[in-house]
Amino acid sequence: MAVVLPVYETFSYSVPAHLSDQARPGMRVLVPFGRRIVTGYLIGPDRQTDLREIKQILDVLDDSPLFPETLIPFFQWIAGYYMHPLGQTINTALPAGLNMADIAVLTLDETNASSSHSPVEKSILAALAKGPATIKQLQKKIGQPVPWALIHRMRQRKWLQLDRHIQGGRIRPKTIRMVTLEESENPSRRLSRQRLAVCDILKAEGDLSVPELKRYIPTAATLVREMQKVGQVAVYEKSIIRDPFGDPIEPDIPPRLTEEQTAAVRQMAPLLGRGFKTVLLAGVTGSGKTEVYLRLTRAALNKKMQVLVLVPEIGLISQTERRFRARFGDTVAVLHSGLSRGERYDQWMRIVNKEASIAIGARSCIFAPFADAGLIIVDEEHDASYKQESGLRYNARDLAVVRGRHHKALVILGSATPSVQSWHNVTIGKYDLATLSRRINRQPLPEIQTVDLSLSRDERGIQRYITPQLQKEIRSTLDDGNQALIFINRRGFSAFPICAHCGQALRCKNCDISLTLHKKANAFRCHYCGFTKAATSACPSCGSEDIRLLGMGTEKVQEAMVQLFPDARVARMDRDTMNRKGSIVRLLKDLRHRRIDILVGTQMVAKGHDFPGITLVGVVCADLTLNFPDFRSGERTFQLLAQVAGRAGRGEHPGRVVLQTFNPDHFTIGAAKEQDFRKFFDQEIGFRKALGYPPFSRMVAVRISGKDPRKTAEAAKRIGALGRQMLNGAGPGGGRVKLMGPIEAPLARIANRHRWQLLISSSDIGELHRMVHDLIQGPDAAAAGRGIRVSVDVDPFFLM
Ligand code: ADP
Ligand code: ZN
Ligand code: ZN
Repeated sequence: MAVVLPVYETFSYSVPAHLSDQARPGMRVLVPFGRRIVTGYLIGPDRQTDLREIKQILDVLDDSPLFPETLIPFFQWIAGYYMHPLGQTINTALPAGLNMADIAVLTLDETNASSSHSPVEKSILAALAKGPATIKQLQKKIGQPVPWALIHRMRQRKWLQLDRHIQGGRIRPKTIRMVTLEESENPSRRLSRQRLAVCDILKAEGDLSVPELKRYIPTAATLVREMQKVGQVAVYEKSIIRDPFGDPIEPDIPPRLTEEQTAAVRQMAPLLGRGFKTVLLAGVTGSGKTEVYLRLTRAALNKKMQVLVLVPEIGLISQTERRFRARFGDTVAVLHSGLSRGERYDQWMRIVNKEASIAIGARSCIFAPFADAGLIIVDEEHDASYKQESGLRYNARDLAVVRGRHHKALVILGSATPSVQSWHNVTIGKYDLATLSRRINRQPLPEIQTVDLSLSRDERGIQRYITPQLQKEIRSTLDDGNQALIFINRRGFSAFPICAHCGQALRCKNCDISLTLHKKANAFRCHYCGFTKAATSACPSCGSEDIRLLGMGTEKVQEAMVQLFPDARVARMDRDTMNRKGSIVRLLKDLRHRRIDILVGTQMVAKGHDFPGITLVGVVCADLTLNFPDFRSGERTFQLLAQVAGRAGRGEHPGRVVLQTFNPDHFTIGAAKEQDFRKFFDQEIGFRKALGYPPFSRMVAVRISGKDPRKTAEAAKRIGALGRQMLNGAGPGGGRVKLMGPIEAPLARIANRHRWQLLISSSDIGELHRMVHDLIQGPDAAAAGRGIRVSVDVDPFFLM
């Protein structure tokens, strides 16, 4: 039994006789815990406990398991590896909205009238005779608690019914009205010219929906109604699949594979059902990786396997999800944050009830409740959105490999810019490699031209960042009737508001990072905590009102584009413009239908999109991410630049990229220019090795945060000192553990909390875990103190 509390042990409880045929692993129960009553998850029998000591389960909360028993070892592995309490781990894995207490409605079952009721049962039935009720309403009515176990029993005896009513609605199959010709069409009856036309179209095209018919004959709706009355046509409902935004998804026809795709499928398909194996699918941007996933999925379904597909969280809509649903229709369940609670619950239960064989979604989809899975696909495996940065800090890409091992499945990690970690695993033979080296139709990869920004350092205004070279390329793209994508890795209008009098940058009072001007709101804003300051503010240090804006953000670039290219239609895509569900779809549609000439955007535009009309990508300043104090900043910059460059030239016209940078000679920029991740890797891996960074070690970040700066620093130092003491006293294995810090985190303050971090690394994962465990949870662990939060981040991704 795992309780949903921040405790690391699991506990044993006995199951009283009256609950014994209800309680099964994967269900929630109520148990006494200390002086409290708490919820826990049943994780299986435990025979080694002393039965005299043991307390009893009070109630069983579910009538069927919420996840299959086979997932329990996986959850246990996660809890152990990420040093997170098991109950809370399971809680993270399950979708919100599973709480049956909110959703169960009880009604009297009229069909059965037994006489042997206990007094409580009698009063429940009497109350329900007056109408349906939730369990809370019922308790109020009869004035005493109603245990779930009793409800389940009464339900089994068919005295009452239980229905789930979920708020937020479900994904109902949507239907459209299809028109079909009646077979018994009377040939002798003379048809009007228009009715004849309807018949001819239906004969030629097959059944059509009314809107489709309208495209031929504007008055089709009225015509169909009349013809239906006299039996010339019939109308029936056909269910269609829609994307989360209500657009129908047309079933698609698989294209003929290219030679490379065929080879990749032939290499991987035979691995299905042959035990655990991980393959890295390295395919350049636009090489058709998705089609390979689709074929392998088909092969897995043919073998009656279940398939898990992870895609990065891309501002609510994913083309990969669309393609899977177009190909596989109703066997697909989707799990992502764009769904309402009710929808997510529905999708989850479709998997539990074996109605879906494919689950596709963002990182939390790794927990999809398949009892077994034969194929696990991670698209864009390098993507940062697979890392959860709060609570259970897991990496879904890594968990895909772990889950694959549990299910003896084939795991495919796909990317055009594989992570250093995954490519390293290929070089040491841990992963197989499959490659797609050419774009579909052999379009060339875009040609990349670097422009040295330091040469225009002294230019004024726009010219400083939108160089003549970039302007020239945009101009000729527009003249050719094509589209340009201008990428800048920063939102807002300007990066640094600076006091022209004393030189101080305007910083967030909570986070110590530069504020950004948001012109529409006419305010400076902090991107970490949301702190806002009026744009008319004076300098907090010297009181001067002469605040200048340095640097660039999406908003300023957009404004520059409008000024420089007054004839062009310019749009912007970043988290500020794309916060509503509909807005991103509208923008993507406008882009596809060429109602936008220039799109300015943040990394949101770098991910996965496939727009044939884009022939130019401009990178305004490639350096913004390169100099973060984080050992992965080079890797991230390379991936971002190569990915954004990959958006260009996916149609018939070849693409061009203008990459502006202050560091044209940096190897990261050079490798990005050639879109050659091996070249990047070969340089980068040397640094990683020399400094003992991952993948040559494992790392754990211990983060210490608190409101009081002095107490936080003291707690951090105390934990650091304890760690050093442990290392000094450690046996032979301890020598391989390294401790860095504690230091104040690069982002020293977020949302008013002061942040310190301690990095602990080792090439020996067992030693590392023991060390961190003893430090945080062991008997000698230093008490952190009031108001101090200590969190553990295993395999940290952002060291900020
Ligand atoms: P990647 O994910 O590797 O960047 P995509 O899977 O997005 O590439 O494929 C790029 C484009 O090529 C898509 O529009 C896709 O529909 C198309 N495509 C993929 N495979 C084929 C094929 N065998 N024949 C024709 N078009 C294909
Ligand atoms: Zn000043
Ligand atoms: Zn802030």
